[in-house]
Formats: sequence, structure tokens, C-alpha cells
Amino acid sequence: MYYLGIDIGSSATKLIAIDDNEKIIGRSVIQLGTGTSGVPAAVKAFYENSGLKSSDIAYTVATGYGRQNFAQADVEVSEISCHARGIHHLLPDVRTIIDIGGQDTKAIQISSRGTIQQFTMNDKCAAGTGRFLDVMSKVLDVGLDKLGEVDAQHTEISPISNTCTVFAESEVISKLSAGTPIPNVLAGIHQAVARRVAGLTLRNGIKPDIALTGGVAQNKGIIRALEQELNCTLIIPPDPQITGALGAAFIAREKYLQQTIL
Ligand code: ADP
Repeated sequence: MYYLGIDIGSSATKLIAIDDNEKIIGRSVIQLGTGTSGVPAAVKAFYENSGLKSSDIAYTVATGYGRQNFAQADVEVSEISCHARGIHHLLPDVRTIIDIGGQDTKAIQISSRGTIQQFTMNDKCAAGTGRFLDVMSKVLDVGLDKLGEVDAQHTEISPISNTCTVFAESEVISKLSAGTPIPNVLAGIHQAVARRVAGLTLRNGIKPDIALTGGVAQNKGIIRALEQELNCTLIIPPDPQITGALGAAFIAREKYLQQTIL
């Protein structure tokens, strides 16, 4: 039996299937989210990569911002629950999860049993989310997967004073026109995001261990800046963008087993 978790985010769609031994047997991540062709493209890639057929899947849990967009799901579960479940499985000592996605940033406190104790989410503003970094990556003409590498070359941090994405974009353009090196501007951008995220995380207090998840956790510049702001070490799971989908797959297995026992 195989169990599928699908996390339909604002900017990426992630699918993970596990077997009865909780081993990952299929994975796909497509950098297209809800409201686009992201879901069908991700589902197609998933079946091609995994060699599975849709009839092999016993139970499916959909999560994420666009979770209503997958009619084949047996049930929809909140992202908070799925992230908590995924991280608790991978890193049982984690008590605080910081998830930075394309549109949402969340800080989730979990107990030693993996239950959710409290959580905080960003307001509607793009600052402090992946969206802010997506805009800046285009302005700097540095690919998302190169942001960490370029940040590592900074000699000083050129601070960004505007939090609003539109004003911050103009500020970045002015800095580049004035000849500020790209790595220094980028370090300032990462610092601005990290300050927003740290403010949100500290609202409920942080308990170690602290994990950083979401697509943005692949950016070493953000890890550096956030560790500085929070004055702590962050633990990054091996494939941080898929932890919500992984948690959804675990919940799918559990729900299937409950259903068959009843
Ligand atoms: P959502 O669930 O909201 O779609 P994700 O957790 O999938 O969000 O994260 C999407 C964000 O991850 C994007 O907005 C982008 O900024 C960032 N991202 C995606 N791929 C990379 C990468 N290779 N390196 C750094 N950041 C990335």
C-alpha cells in the first residue's frame, strides 16, 4: 500500500508517497503553485518519476494554501498539522518550526509528542516570505538557487530600510545604480527578511531545537541571517521544501489504517 501527501503552495506543488514502512517511494517538486498548471504538472511528474499508478495509492491527504484544488484527495489537512507531523518524524527533538514559504511564514511550537502548542503566521505582507526573495532575485538577476552562494561573498551588509516589497525593490535598484556590490545588497535583503521572520518567531518565544523548513530554507544566506537575528543554530532537514507533503503522507497512512480498523 502507498500513501500520498500533496502540498499545494502558493509558489510550488510538492508530492510525496510513502509505503507501509514509512519509506519515501516517490517525490516531485514543481515550482508552480496553485492557480496555475502547477497541480497537474506536479502530479504528472510524480507518477513518471515514481513509477507508481494512481490505483496504487490507498489514501491521499492534501494540504497547503491550494489544497481544495486536488479533487482526488480523500481529506484536506491544515499545513500547520502537516509540517508538525513531518518535522516530528524527521527531527523528534525539534520544539520550534519556522516555515518560510512563498506567501506564508509560520512559527509553530510543538511538544515532545509532536502536538501543536501554538503558532503564529505573518500578515498578508510579502516581506518576510519567499515572495520578497523571488522579487529581489529578479531585480539582482541572481537565480533563487544561487542566493546563498552570492550572499557568502558579501564584505559588508548594506541594510534595506523599507519593509514594503515595492519600496524595497526601488531601494535595491538605487543601491545597484550607486555601485554597491550585489553580494552586499543581497546580504541586506536577507537581513531584512530575517528580521521580519525573527520578529514573528519571537512573539511566542522559541524553544530549541529549532528547525527551518519551506523552500526558503534552501537559501544559505537566509539561514546565516536568521541565525544571527535569533542568536541560535537552526536545524535544516535534508529536503526542507517537502516536510509539509511528507507530514501529509504520514497522516494519509494513519487515516487509512484507522478507516480499515473501524
Ligand atoms: P509554498 O508552499 O508557499 O509554495 P515553498 O515552501 O514551496 O512555498 O517555498 C517557495 C519559496 O521557496 C519560493 O518563493 C522561493 O523563494 C524559495 N525557493 C524555491 N526554490 C529555492 C531554491 N532552490 N533556493 C532558494 N530558495 C528557493
